[in-house]
Amino acid sequence: MKKEIICTVCPRGCHVMVDGEGENILSVDGYGCKRGLEYASGEFTHPVRILTTTVKVEGVEHDLLPVRSDKPLPKEKLLDCMAVIRSLCVKRPVKQYDVLAADICGTGVNMVATKDMA
Ligand code: SF4
Repeated sequence: MKKEIICTVCPRGCHVMVDGEGENILSVDGYGCKRGLEYASGEFTHPVRILTTTVKVEGVEHDLLPVRSDKPLPKEKLLDCMAVIRSLCVKRPVKQYDVLAADICGTGVNMVATKDMA
């Protein structure tokens, strides 16, 4: 199966073509440097994303606290993680980088606050 992946490592945005199946990569073409080769290979076999979103805050009706994952999450786990995050309601005060959901969905990744909320 061939897949075109746009490298996001630098602004050049090379269109990298990866051919393979599952974990097996047969060929990679179109990358401009080694970093792009690594990025496209990882994106083909095991795509990950930093998850940024917001959570509800207890006692505050219209204010949401911005949060993000402290490491990239497997792409296939993002919807499960969002279900957990939607169920959260944090108590103030919160400090930037406080862990609000540890080891979310068994990924070893924590969801952390990205700002203080007094
Ligand atoms: S392959 Fe290299 S040159 Fe091309 S976008 Fe990625 S990092 Fe930039």
